[in-house]
Amino acid sequence: MPRKISRAKAKSRGLTRYYTGKKCCRGHVAERNVCNKHCVICGLAHTKAYQQTPQGQRTRRAWEESPRGRESQRRSNQSPEARASKRRYNRSQKGREARRRFDQSPKGRESRFRQKHSVKGHEATRRRNNSPRGQDCQWRYKHSTKGIETARRYAQRYNEQPKNKRRVLEGVRRRLLERREAEYFENPHDDRARKLYFNLLYRREKDGR
Ligand SMILES: [Zn+2]
Repeated sequence: MPRKISRAKAKSRGLTRYYTGKKCCRGHVAERNVCNKHCVICGLAHTKAYQQTPQGQRTRRAWEESPRGRESQRRSNQSPEARASKRRYNRSQKGREARRRFDQSPKGRESRFRQKHSVKGHEATRRRNNSPRGQDCQWRYKHSTKGIETARRYAQRYNEQPKNKRRVLEGVRRRLLERREAEYFENPHDDRARKLYFNLLYRREKDGR
C-alpha cells in the first residue's frame, strides 16, 4: 500500500492521487483521485462498466482511431508482456487457425503482397533465399519439371530479343565450325569433311568473324 498523504498535501505537491487508508463506500482500501475524491478501484470498475455500453464502445472506438489513441496502443503493443502474449497466442491452435483464415482472405492476400514488395519484405526474401533451407528449396524447384519448363521459357524469350539474337547466331555458327573441325580431324582423308570444314573456315574469315 502507498504511503499516507492527505488530499490537501497531495494537491499542494501537484500529485493526482492521495491516500488516507480509509475504506471507500464499497469497502476498497485504495488511493483516491485528488480532483474528485473517488476511489481508483471504483473508478476502474465504473470505466469497465461504461465501456460495455453502446455509448462507451463508441467513445472507445473513437479513442482507438485518434492519433493519440493509436500512439498509446502502439506503445502498449510493444511492451514485453504484450509481445510474450502475442507469441503465446500465435503458437496456440486458435491462433494458427485464425492466421490461416486471414492468409486466405482477400485482405490477407493483399497484406502479404504489400509486405512482399516492401523494403523489409525484400530483405526477408533475400535472407530466406540465402539460407540452407531456401537454397535447398530452390535447387528442388530448378530440377522439377515445372522449374525446367520455366527456365526454358525464359531462355527462349531472352534469345528472341534483338540484342541477344546476334550472339545466339554466333554461338550456332561457332558450334557448327567446331563440329566440322572435329569431323575433319577424325577423317583427314575424307574429301567431303575437308571441304565442308575449310569452306566454313574461309567464309568466316571473309566475313571478319
Ligand atoms: Zn472503491
